[in-house]
Amino acid sequence: MTDLNSHALADVVLDTTDENPATTTVSPAKPVAAVDGSGFVDMGLAPELLAALRDLSFTQPTPVQVRAIPLALQDNAGKPANDLLVSSQTGSGKTAAFLLPVMHTLLQQQKQQEKAENKAWADKVAQAVAIGEEAPKKPRRKNPTDIRHVKPANPGALILCPTRELAQQVAKDAIDLVRHCKGLRIACVVGGMPYPLQIARLHNADLVVATPGRLLDLQRSKQLHLDKVQFLVVDEADRMLDLGFAEDLADIHKLTEARRQTMMFSATFAPRIQQLAARIMRTPQRLQVDSPQEAHANIKQVLFWADNQQHKRKLLDHWLRDTTIDQAIVFASTQIECDALAEDLQQVGFSAVALHGALSQGLRNRRLQALRDGRVQILVATDVAARGIDVPSISHVFNFGLPMKQEDYVHRIGRTGRAGRDGLAVTFAEWRDRRKILDIEHFTQQTLRADMIPGLEPTQRSPRAPSGAEPKRFGKPSGGRSYAGAAAKRGSGFKPRGPARG
Ligand code: AMP
Repeated sequence: MTDLNSHALADVVLDTTDENPATTTVSPAKPVAAVDGSGFVDMGLAPELLAALRDLSFTQPTPVQVRAIPLALQDNAGKPANDLLVSSQTGSGKTAAFLLPVMHTLLQQQKQQEKAENKAWADKVAQAVAIGEEAPKKPRRKNPTDIRHVKPANPGALILCPTRELAQQVAKDAIDLVRHCKGLRIACVVGGMPYPLQIARLHNADLVVATPGRLLDLQRSKQLHLDKVQFLVVDEADRMLDLGFAEDLADIHKLTEARRQTMMFSATFAPRIQQLAARIMRTPQRLQVDSPQEAHANIKQVLFWADNQQHKRKLLDHWLRDTTIDQAIVFASTQIECDALAEDLQQVGFSAVALHGALSQGLRNRRLQALRDGRVQILVATDVAARGIDVPSISHVFNFGLPMKQEDYVHRIGRTGRAGRDGLAVTFAEWRDRRKILDIEHFTQQTLRADMIPGLEPTQRSPRAPSGAEPKRFGKPSGGRSYAGAAAKRGSGFKPRGPARG
């Protein structure tokens, strides 16, 4: 079993490439120089944050946290703070890597402001006493819940996410991290939520996690000001561009131009990401945390060739009855396929629901919550809707419909193997999909090993296997029986249930 903590300090290599001196590569796999220290404490993080990390059992920082947090916090003696462009995979601990330094600085500022206010008050009292006047009384604290005291939010930090689900996940992580901080308020701004509720929740927010569209709506209607933003984080920047947010990003960049720091996280340093960085960042330090081929070492990947759609459906059905499945995400290529497949699975008694961008936000939230609570076992999803889902009990990911882009394959399989667990990613492909499979293999620089289930072999010969060749067989993620061999043992397995709620 891979433990996230095992990637921590001692296993980190720092290697600055000559061609690109601004890029630092961190490889969790090849230690040459141990990084000394006892994790988060050595980074000098505020005690309130350390207490939250203890509660969360984050004992050691992950590689992206080891590199990004000190750089983000670095005091450049009067010069601007470091801007960071970080390439790291989902599941690497990147959320805490950007939240912790931002929260630390906001907390320090709050403490300094409190100290200055206390001093100013003490001076005022001393002056009054010195001239023989009665010491002034402190004005009564305004009731912050009173509607008359509600002012438009003026946050110090802004985290932008491409999807509502990711924004909600990041906001949840942020709330977990500020549980010991007094007066550091988090708000989440996403489309699909009623405006009055959102505006009420924005009240006094210090750190706002948002999707760009709704954020700009609220800014334009003056419910939110962005001129005090000091920290701007763009999470999953590659997806942000895929979803057409380039213009919104440019607008938000302009509205927050006085900020002191920008951090951008992306799966790759593709040229379009570098162009975006050049537009909105000041000579950022580049940090390559892991490459697609190094990522997801704890996730076994396997490929099943199928003759046609019906054959794929039979293979999926077979797999979903596997007793080792805790919860699973089945990826579909389109919203139509997603709905149809979820309905089909429900019809045959599986506890399955669909999740895609055309569903109302309320329904999406309820379905995700049902998955988190374990009331639903199978989520049939499209790429956009499934981004950012962090449910540790997802043991299997199935690629029923192949992703449009190779990067999405990496994001999909990253939904399993979370929080230090092992996972299994199963891809079904037809012969006509072989180009896409090659592209995925090229991107991940890994060969997808083909397997077969006895009785459900494809009639066409596998594109790669020479005739009569033994198919490659896999063990369980943590050793044990082979998947192909396990087929015979399945049966009662992952019990189909009554129609799912959600
Ligand atoms: P992320 O890449 O931010 O989505 O994080 C992936 C998972 O790792 C989440 O479930 C986090 O709660 C968890 N995580 C983040 N940092 C640590 C850490 N230092 N130690 C253990 N788990 C962590």
